[in-house]
Amino acid sequence: MNFSDLELAEPVLRAVTMEKYTTPSPIQAQTIPQLLAGKDVLGCAQTGTGKTAAFALPIIHRLYEQGVPRGRRAPRALVLTPTRELAAQVGASFNSLGRYTGLKTAIIFGGVGQGPQAAALRSGVDVVVTTPGRLIDLMNQRLVDLRQINTLVLDEADHMLDMGFIHDVKRIIAKIPGERHTMLFSATMPKEIASLAAAVLKDPVNIAVAAVSSAVETVAQTVYHVEKAKKGPLLVDLLQNGGIKTGLVFSRTKHGADKICRMLNAAGIQSGAIHGNKSQSARKQALDSFKRGKLRVLVATDIAARGIDIQALPHVVNYDLPDVPETYVHRIGRTGRAVTSA
Ligand code: AMP
Repeated sequence: MNFSDLELAEPVLRAVTMEKYTTPSPIQAQTIPQLLAGKDVLGCAQTGTGKTAAFALPIIHRLYEQGVPRGRRAPRALVLTPTRELAAQVGASFNSLGRYTGLKTAIIFGGVGQGPQAAALRSGVDVVVTTPGRLIDLMNQRLVDLRQINTLVLDEADHMLDMGFIHDVKRIIAKIPGERHTMLFSATMPKEIASLAAAVLKDPVNIAVAAVSSAVETVAQTVYHVEKAKKGPLLVDLLQNGGIKTGLVFSRTKHGADKICRMLNAAGIQSGAIHGNKSQSARKQALDSFKRGKLRVLVATDIAARGIDIQALPHVVNYDLPDVPETYVHRIGRTGRAVTSA
């Protein structure tokens, strides 16, 4: 199957070509036709499967076909994501895949001033990609008008649950029109998410591209049995002699992340840490330096790492093993991101 078989509008296909996507990934091949036909979708897909474009492309197509008003207008599509990083990344996908359509996307999250976000909303946008907390702040101040929303996406719904956002998500859904096109994506399907899905989706098509909680197949996994005190020296050794040139290291705690980072820097391995105690700008700076190759290692906590999309990330190190299997799946999903074709 090719993207041109998917009956996407010409400016959307042109953006797909610019992104150098040739073949739709399995989730895209299954989801896009259903969403184009207006069906609600319950997608069970982990990160790295191409799920963002699976919903962004049909949404952009449908909004474009509805017509792109100029100037002030209320948003018609709302995408809720659990983290700032994921909101930034999904928003960037809407911008790049929608670049030839004239559609505008606002990316909204906390931890930064709300002024520019409120200004973007005031000037008129078609899509809002947001974390729940900041959206509720803006709703309380009447700075966002959700009355025209006709498309709703809940992305990484299991993480919204883990992070305690489900109540906020329900409050937001209560404020948007019931007559709408809804899609929910989640890497795992705990029963709370299944019941949320049953409440918000109408007669959905179920699409699953990998078994629930299974690790992505493209990732080779290695385990080292060592005593706790030897974990640090082992990591340094792997980075100095073990063929790990660059990678993302997961720490259970913020304090632990800083400690690992100090240890690596002391060993001459350029590293940076991202976690919830760092400001948004410090996180962005560390991530950018890592992407540019100025840092060999990025040390992160799970929450801070969500939504990070780094092309060709060769290694993920679980310095501390997570307690929840799904977290492990998410962590290692940061590598092996080559999307397999349908
Ligand atoms: P996601 O699962 O949405 O986080 O996407 C994972 C990565 O795959 C992103 O870097 C996308 O830009 C990329 N991607 C998405 N769809 C395709 C495709 N059909 N072909 C190649 N790369 C893709």
